[in-house]
Amino acid sequence: MTYAGSGLGLLPDERIDLSERLIRNEEDNGKSLTDPVTGLGNLRRMKVKTDKLIEQRADDPAPFTIGIFNIDRFRPVNDLFGRKAGDEILAQVALRISASLPDDATLVRISGDMFGMVLPTCFFEKDAERLGRLLKEVFTAPFDLGERTVRMSATFGFCQYPFAGNSFDELFDKCESALYLARKSGPSSVQVYTHQMADDMRKRTRIEQALRKAIAAEEVEPHFQPIVEIDTGIITGFECLARWTDAELGEISPGVFIPLAEQAGFIDSLTKLLFVKAIECAKEWPEHIFLSFNLSSVQLMDPTTGLAVMAMLSKTEFDPRRIEIEITETAMMSDPETAERIIDEMRAIGIRVLLDDFGTGQSSLGRLRDFTFDKLKIDRSFIAALGEGAQPEHIVRAILNMCEALDLGVIAEGIETAEQAKMLVQLGCTTGQGYYFGRPADKDKTLAYFNDSEVAADGTLTCRVTSPGCCAG
Ligand code: C2E
Ligand code: CA
Ligand code: CA
Repeated sequence: MTYAGSGLGLLPDERIDLSERLIRNEEDNGKSLTDPVTGLGNLRRMKVKTDKLIEQRADDPAPFTIGIFNIDRFRPVNDLFGRKAGDEILAQVALRISASLPDDATLVRISGDMFGMVLPTCFFEKDAERLGRLLKEVFTAPFDLGERTVRMSATFGFCQYPFAGNSFDELFDKCESALYLARKSGPSSVQVYTHQMADDMRKRTRIEQALRKAIAAEEVEPHFQPIVEIDTGIITGFECLARWTDAELGEISPGVFIPLAEQAGFIDSLTKLLFVKAIECAKEWPEHIFLSFNLSSVQLMDPTTGLAVMAMLSKTEFDPRRIEIEITETAMMSDPETAERIIDEMRAIGIRVLLDDFGTGQSSLGRLRDFTFDKLKIDRSFIAALGEGAQPEHIVRAILNMCEALDLGVIAEGIETAEQAKMLVQLGCTTGQGYYFGRPADKDKTLAYFNDSEVAADGTLTCRVTSPGCCAG
């Protein structure tokens, strides 16, 4: 069984620590319930109102709704036009939203660009959705900043008592989860906490707990997929891909547990475990075979990653020149300076750095200009489309030409058929990986490649392709 979880929950540093925030609120404003910038209530007031409603509704189990929203891209506007303009926008948002809410509703400003609402007579999921859509509309008119106007939008998360929780903390937490999911759909979205979300969150919590244990028990394993010279099938290296099977939950895809480890804050221990295990395996391979290792985007935002990689390497006494590190664009977009430093640190000790999933990001060409890579991997969506008309072929050819001009190595990933392999050879792509050459396999099956494959006089290995005959010519 493989879970396709939805990765709910805010990243740890995005979540509001409610009790801390409430204490700070009190320190700033005494026991005040008012936000000085907008004149609205503050988080304390939202809690007081919610607590009171929970008390009243204990006997009368009618639901009510609480909601939170963030103004999208508020910070750049604040930075560009100044704090005064930012405060002006906050005040106008307060006015507009207040005017659009039912009379019995309470609107508060929680902090920065985040607002909260308590809606005593919003009873049903569909009412909250309708209200969310209306409030979204309220943002469409431009905001007046004297000489200029700016356009803003907001993203909303709602949840309902008692379905989502019986305390303010629980309800607020569910609102944050809904807001997080809304943000994933892009700016100006609305999400109500639903049964589906509750199910996903329960599943996610189970997976998270099991994963935490599995990491402690060192039960996550590296598997390896061969990277080959396409025309000969000769193996040049292996990509390490994480595999985890839980006794109860079954096999869980890295597409699920890697993002979960990132969000839950234990990606570092998972990476360390995999890296050390992978290197132990790679030590048994012939010396010219390299190991390619994926770094998660969260790690490229952490300035200590370069040092951590070096420390792990020196402990294992493995030649850094046999290592390639695969990174994706996401991290480089969030914190380019840190990412650049980490890339430089790794390259300085001989590790090659590779841009993964090329062609799927938002501005891959910009990345190539701003960062120094040794190779890039053409995303498998382009390879899968080869043979389906001329366009994918043109794209792959253009990427190959560009890499040649920039002196970049290229790996084609996701090669599944002899036809794709053949076309890549004709287009001049020399290196690739994919099910056609070999699926990811555990360490023993990987070692068997070196025993079963044909070993030439010079020590190179020929990968066993699934159907013989192959692709040269
Ligand atoms: P990725 O780095 O792009 O890895 C390639 C994915 O494509 C792997 O999926 C691999 O099994 C799959 N694949 C390889 N050849 C073929 C093919 O011919 N056809 C098709 N359809 N798929 C192919 P997998 O192992 O499920 O990993 C998914 C993603 O999870 C990886 O994408 C990577 O982003 C992440 N991941 C896996 N292991 C690790 C790890 O140890 N650390 C980190 N940070 N991320 C990892
Ligand atoms: Ca990869
Ligand atoms: Ca990839």
